[in-house]
Parts: sequence; structure tokens; C-alpha cells
Amino acid sequence: MTDTAAPPVFDPSWVRSDPYPQVIAGTEVGEGTRMPLVNPGTGVEVGSWLEATDAEVDRAIAAARKSFDEGTWRRRPPARRAEVLERAAQAIRTRVPELIGLDCVSTGKVFLGGIGYDGYEAVNAFLGAAATIREAAGEVREAAFPPGLFPGDGPRILSIRNREPVGVVAELLPWNAPLFTGSERIAGALAAGCSIVAKPSEESPASFVELAGILREAGLPEGVFNVVLGRGETVGDRLIRDPRVDLVSVTGSVETGTRIYEIAASTMKRVNLELGGKAPVVVFADADLDAVATWAMLAAFNNMGEVCVAGTRLLVEATAYDDVVAAVAGAASGLPIGDQFDARTFIGPLVNAEHADRVRGFVDRAVNGGGATLVGGGTVPDGLNGAFVAPTVLGDLDAGAEIEQHEVFGPVIAAHRFATEEEALARANSTQYGLSASVFTGNIERAFRFADRLVAGNVQINHHYSADSHVPRGTPRRKSGTGLAGVGAYQAPKSIDLNLG
Ligand code: NAD
Repeated sequence: MTDTAAPPVFDPSWVRSDPYPQVIAGTEVGEGTRMPLVNPGTGVEVGSWLEATDAEVDRAIAAARKSFDEGTWRRRPPARRAEVLERAAQAIRTRVPELIGLDCVSTGKVFLGGIGYDGYEAVNAFLGAAATIREAAGEVREAAFPPGLFPGDGPRILSIRNREPVGVVAELLPWNAPLFTGSERIAGALAAGCSIVAKPSEESPASFVELAGILREAGLPEGVFNVVLGRGETVGDRLIRDPRVDLVSVTGSVETGTRIYEIAASTMKRVNLELGGKAPVVVFADADLDAVATWAMLAAFNNMGEVCVAGTRLLVEATAYDDVVAAVAGAASGLPIGDQFDARTFIGPLVNAEHADRVRGFVDRAVNGGGATLVGGGTVPDGLNGAFVAPTVLGDLDAGAEIEQHEVFGPVIAAHRFATEEEALARANSTQYGLSASVFTGNIERAFRFADRLVAGNVQINHHYSADSHVPRGTPRRKSGTGLAGVGAYQAPKSIDLNLG
């Protein structure tokens, strides 16, 4: 899009009038209960979807298993697999407004922001996975037995180490960035050669049904990518317990990941967990404080704070604390709140009113029960419903307060001051999470020293958020998960030794 092009406008006809179905072995089917698809900003039902029946889940797993065992996809040369992913990327690119629009209408995600970020990164995920698999290489070594077992040096052994696809993947996905997060996972799994049964969140099923069509048209063989729709405790539960599934991949909350990890242990499935976070944004007084205010605001309020790596804890050196916190609160107060499809909106509705109540509950308990003070933020304009939550800045956060220790997943930032680097580090590392963190300072030695000691898989210096999701990232620490990232998350190393005599 050029600067002069008119911004895309959401077209309600993008939402199917028929309920969104399952996609099994390349065919759309639907026998289950009809569930509503609701725009959280208006409360209006905009469409519907069908919850997969037991028989449909069974057929989807069978289709994935069959395609994997027959090898129609996994045995294709990597370059041929890459071509399919590249064609899919191009098709997604041409349909970004529609696909992102489907995510926005049911989750409240802001349309233009979603097109610019989620849409771009969904395409990037498929191109990145294709590039990875084109470049993939194994290892070849010469090995030997211990001396004395055989005459001379014994047989020469050529040891080849390669990476196989792990098998059939159950991919359980969240609602906060359905196409973007889903594309990252699916592209990695497909590049690796896996067959998949994906379950998008019950809040955002539509874009994944369309993605299945895109992949089919791009040349993905039948049965390699199947989509089942439904709730976690029903459809998700069947997927994770099924012995035909080799890997359960979960992007979701710590509570969900913990439950699934326990269940999967009984079948010794591999489990990849990408879970929640509580990222600290650590600011030293020698940082560029004007830039800090913008980054801290974006870190906390981008996508209404419904981001796993959102910077929700603002730790500021005491001498700069008042200025930084006032600047962030000032920025928050000016963020336009409204319809997610209005081009002026920065803060749309949260995913539903129930989640918004949960977010307000965290704020009320922090402010009224002690633990933090209300510094400022925005105000929800009259006429908007209960799914909207204004960006909120809390200060003087007590160590160990509930709002410091739990992921809120809403537009709330809680600040506190520190006197020394040691104190800042201890506080930054004081939660059960370890997904992401950022540090702002003008002192490069301190930046590296601090980054080195932060308990987080991803650390950013003088910015927040990883740029370009295809650049290799770290793995989650603590309860933020066990996940490997990218194509490697869906591969299992294998060695084959050859006796050369
Ligand atoms: P969630 O944990 O409620 O659900 C995630 C997925 O798991 C959904 O598809 C859900 O239906 C399914 N599920 C839930 N319970 C299940 C069960 N018992 N058995 C099988 N499947 C089950 O998460 P959410 O509310 O959809 O998403 C928000 C969460 O996701 C936040 O905690 C956020 O931090 C996290 N997240 C993490 C990352 C990451 O990369 N680390 C990215 C995006 C979101």
C-alpha cells in the first residue's frame, strides 16, 4: 500500500453466510452444533460455525495420519514443499484484508493495525519457512568404535544425521493473532513435512477455514492440513488424547498448557508449549526517555495488550520514574478507543465482555485492595459496550502484587521504581513467566550485562517486540512454555550409520 492509496475497508460479505465447517481431507464438512460468531464491539452475531463432532475429529486425525504414513507430503523434496508454501504466501498476500477482517470481526483486533502487522507476518511466516527448508542441511561425520574391539581401527562408520518430520501434529491455537500466530506454527510444521489437525480458537475460527482452501489451491496434498472447530475441553481434548497424534503444539495460557502437558504425559507425546508472559520493560535514567515513553506505550497497549509478549511491567529508575510514568499515562490518555474497523481507532474491544470484566477485575483489586495506585490512562467513550477497556496506567506497584504476578491480557501497565541495577534485575525476574523482556539504557555494557541476566527467551535492547518473526528467536523460560520455535519445533533428529568396511 502506498501513502496515497485509500486504506482498505472491511466488507461484511467476507464473512460466510453459511456456518464455517470443518476441513477434512481437503473437503469442507459440517454435522455438528451451530455456534455463533459475535462481533464483541457491537454484540451482533455476524456469522456462525459448526463444532466438530467426535466422528469428525476422528476422521480429521485419520486423514492426517493416512497422509503422513503414505508420505505424500513428507517425502516430497524440500524444494517442492517450499514451492507450495511460497504459492500460499502469495495467495495470503492478495487476501490479507479479508483474512485479517475475519479475525478482527470476531476478536476486536483493530483492522488496519492487523493488516499491517499480522497480515505482513503471516505472509512472512510462509516465506520464511520455505526459505528455511530450502537451506536445510544435515550433518555427516565419520565415527569409530573404541580401540581394541576390532583388528586395527575397526570398521569405518559414516554417520549421517538428518531431521525427520515429527509426524501428525495437533495444533491448538489462541485467538489474539489467529492468522499470524497460526501461520507461524502451520508454516513451520508443513515445511518440516508434518501432517496437521489444527484447531483454531473457538473465538476466531473463520480465517483458518479460508487458509485451508488457500493451501489446497497452492498444491498441498489432501489430508495434510485439516481444520476442526470447537472448544478446548471438547474438540481440543479429543485431539490431545488421541494416540495417532505424535506432537501436541499449544499456543495459549499457562493454565491450558499445564493441563495439556499433564494429559499428554500419559501417552508420551511430544508437547510444544508457547504460553503466556508478563514482560518487564526496564528503563534506566540514561535512556532516551522520549523514545521510552512511546515504546512503553506500544509495548503495553498494542492490540489492547492482548499479546503474549506485551510489556506489562514498567520498571523505571527512581530519578526518571515520575517523568516516564506521566509520559506513558499521557500517551495512553490520547489513544482513540472505538470500532475496530474505524481507521482512527487504536484501542478496539477486547475479545468479549467476559474477558474485559476479568481485566477490570485485576485493575479494581490492585487499586482498591492495595498493590498499586491509579496513575491515569484513557476513558471509554459513552455508547461503547462492556467489551471495551480503556488503556490504564498503574503505579507504585507492590512486589508480589497479583497484577504483577499474573498475565492480565488487557490494556493495563503497572509501574514501579527501582534504585539499583540489582534491584531492577531481581524484580524483573520475579514472576513465573520468562517469555520476553526489554531494557532501555544508553550504556551498552549495562544493556548486555542486564540482558544476559534476564530470565527470558527474547530480550530487546532499546525497543520492545521482536522485529521480523522469521529471525530466529529464543525459547520460553519458566512457565512460559517448553516450545522450540520455527521449523525445528516440528522435526526430530535421526542418525543413520553406514559401515564402510
Ligand atoms: P487458551 O489457553 O484459552 O486456549 C488456547 C487453545 O487451547 C485454544 O484453541 C483452546 O480452545 C485450546 N484449549 C483450551 N483448553 C484446552 C484443553 N483442556 N484441551 C485441549 N485444548 C484446549 O488461550 P487463549 O485465551 O485462546 O489465548 C491467549 C493466551 O495465549 C495468552 O495466555 C497468551 O499469552 C497466549 N499466547 C502465547 C503466545 C506465544 O507465542 N507464547 C502467542 C499468542 C498467545
